[in-house]
Amino acid sequence: MPDQLGPPLPQPLFGRVAIIGLGLIGSSLARVARRKGLAKTIVAIDLSDAVRARVAELGIADEVAETPEAGVRDADLVILCVPVGANATVAAVIGPHLKTGAVMSDVGSVKASVIANVTPYLRPDISLVPAHPVAGTEFSGPDAGFATLFVNRWCILTPPDGTDPAATEKVRAFWSAAGSNVEIMSATHHDLVLAITSHVPHLIAFNIVGTAAHLEQVTNSEVIKFSAGGFRDFTRIAASDPTMWRDVFLNNKDAVLDMLGRFNDDLAALRGMVERSDGDGLFDLFTRTRAIRRGIIDIGQETQKADFGRLPAGSDESQ
Ligand code: NAP
Repeated sequence: MPDQLGPPLPQPLFGRVAIIGLGLIGSSLARVARRKGLAKTIVAIDLSDAVRARVAELGIADEVAETPEAGVRDADLVILCVPVGANATVAAVIGPHLKTGAVMSDVGSVKASVIANVTPYLRPDISLVPAHPVAGTEFSGPDAGFATLFVNRWCILTPPDGTDPAATEKVRAFWSAAGSNVEIMSATHHDLVLAITSHVPHLIAFNIVGTAAHLEQVTNSEVIKFSAGGFRDFTRIAASDPTMWRDVFLNNKDAVLDMLGRFNDDLAALRGMVERSDGDGLFDLFTRTRAIRRGIIDIGQETQKADFGRLPAGSDESQ
């Protein structure tokens, strides 16, 4: 398979990059930073002894810090890769130890709350450039990461008004070199867009898998045994990390409730079509939704390949 990442950069973009939280996203970032030569030194920071030991074993960072305070000292770029709800706690610990003029970023799936929760702990000389790589899998932890996770995926930056443009540019260059297409927008707009494209779909998956589990006339073993493609896809999404998703809904409440309101209205209309045996209405809706899927394939964010016969775990070509 051709190397999707291309050769390393001639010069690193940053001297020291500290990555806090070496789970799926943080460990993927460490791997791609190493492969592409994005930093002279990659420092791994994690509160968990087990994660730090595993990162050292995997050799995906140049240094594994004993404490967050020590790890961020002298770092030019610090990237928070912890669940959104942990950002404030981590920022409070590291804030006083950040290098003068350092750039602070994150990878959280919600953006307005990160700005609100982290900014109070940052001195005026620190630039905050929040980022959200729209890339992931349902797996967690340092073994789940891989260097090509961000290739051809979007990364959305949401620098607050007044952010040093040079800092934003450096973070943009970092994500571009990791293979992402970078777009800049306001944090509130990001949260609204992601509520409908990611957060509400996850909520629906959590709900339908929960409903199947609660059915009384159909046993759990039947649900598992006869799980057709549609349900199986929902179970994959519903297997996502509970901590991460709890924090997403707690931190993007307004946008999620807004989109959920629209979803409920549309679901009621759809229910009406089924009740009335409105075949034309159902056919029109399904034709429109099929066109959306084609649009996603056309812009290269998905492949044509039939998905219902997925290969067994571990043989996913994307990894
Ligand atoms: P993950 O695999 O569960 O990794 C999270 C890491 O953060 C773990 O190493 C965890 O260490 C550490 N951590 C947890 N709570 C902490 C705390 N209170 N203080 C310090 N460290 C803590 O999660 P992930 O999927 O990489 O997600 C990380 C971030 O990326 C989240 O903000 C998420 O919204 C965002 N994101 C995720 C995806 C996705 O598809 N997964 C996609 C885009 C963005 P322990 O092992 O000790 O808990």
